[in-house]
Amino acid sequence: MVDPEGRSVVLVVEDEESYQEALKVGLTVEGFVVVSATNLSEARELIETTKPDLILLDVMLPDGSGLDLCREICETKRIPVIMVSARTEELDVVLGLEIGAADYVTKPYRLRELVARMRVVLRRPAIESNDEIISFGNIRLDLTRRTVAKNDIVIELSRKEFDLLTLFATRLGQVVTREVCLDTLWWGLELSDTRTLDTHVKRLRQKIEDEPADPKHLLTIRGVGFRLDA
Ligand code: CA
Repeated sequence: MVDPEGRSVVLVVEDEESYQEALKVGLTVEGFVVVSATNLSEARELIETTKPDLILLDVMLPDGSGLDLCREICETKRIPVIMVSARTEELDVVLGLEIGAADYVTKPYRLRELVARMRVVLRRPAIESNDEIISFGNIRLDLTRRTVAKNDIVIELSRKEFDLLTLFATRLGQVVTREVCLDTLWWGLELSDTRTLDTHVKRLRQKIEDEPADPKHLLTIRGVGFRLDA
């Protein structure tokens, strides 16, 4: 939802009052409309009623883990989520990104840094789907219904796996760089390593290739990226 003045609506899910207050003031000054929730149930309600453009989501909340809500949002809605956590273990970062978070910041963070990341995330358009069906080998990709079938049998892909396959399929026969993959799927996030992308490619191969270890369609172009061949 964009308000009449064109400002983006940000849902801040945070139970620490000091952060909640600071974000409300700071983000309003930066030109955002701020909606606040202090737990998961409030957040779920506000997502439905305010249709935010972006969600800042704390991990440790009084009624559960923000990671669960992140998973829900990423599976069912196209609202980017930035996870916010006091914990800095890499495991959390990777987990957050694998379940579809757009980015991740750890407390304490600088408002300026957070706002910069928010703007990157908001600039990134969702992958557009149109009335198209793309076929290669024994795979049929229906962009409208967001389904993939192998030998006419529907296969289950996560949202990210589907988006990644769409990215490759709409550039059939062309090399897609790792940078473009990260830019498109993870909103330009600079990962210290790109294991998340490799994990997704590996899972895609397991689902679409006859022999995942010797792929015929989804090929790695060493040092550059990937290419989907028909
Ligand atoms: Ca917390």
